[in-house]
Amino acid sequence: MTQFLVVLDVDSTLIENEVIELLADCAGRHAEVAAITDRAMRGELDFAASLRERVAALEGLDVSCFREVGEQITVTHGVPDLIAGLHRTGNLVGVVSGGFHEVLDPLAEELGLDYWRANRLGVTDGRLDGTVSGPIVDAQSKADALLEWAGELGLPVAQTVAVGDGANDLRMMEVAGLSVAFDARPLVREHAHVAMDVRDLSQLLPLLGLRA
Ligand SMILES: [Mg+2]
Repeated sequence: MTQFLVVLDVDSTLIENEVIELLADCAGRHAEVAAITDRAMRGELDFAASLRERVAALEGLDVSCFREVGEQITVTHGVPDLIAGLHRTGNLVGVVSGGFHEVLDPLAEELGLDYWRANRLGVTDGRLDGTVSGPIVDAQSKADALLEWAGELGLPVAQTVAVGDGANDLRMMEVAGLSVAFDARPLVREHAHVAMDVRDLSQLLPLLGLRA
């Protein structure tokens, strides 16, 4: 019987990178996208607005960039051990991302994740059309995903764990039974049950009383 459902953020948590920045590099629009990110950090834009603006800046990008970006991703130290350790003891692991299915899907399959959810990019004739297709995965949808997956499993919310580094992770950290701030900003650390500063996700196993 499942004991725990662990749900991780993706950018700067499951992986060392920020996928939107890699896509911007591939599009040759790093400065443009970075400027929008800065405005969001200063509180001038909310997450959904900043995501829409950054995706609009990627209009025309060839879909071959998904593969190029996928090859540049570095999985955070300890992730394969964490997933193997959780699975060996009958637990499940999911990720939820303000990033994109187009880049996350191959990685999620390679890692053997049980659940994953992200945004979808609008594509027309093999190029990004500058839109996000469908509802945007924001802080609330991250929390909703965790609750929905736990509900499907019939797992009490107290047996869920949320791991993240950014403001966008605060809602899911609030609803989870245990919240872990991973190499996180001060605001996120302050709201978490546990803060981890060493970038090794296998540290979650002993925290949950599981052997590595
Ligand atoms: Mg993050």
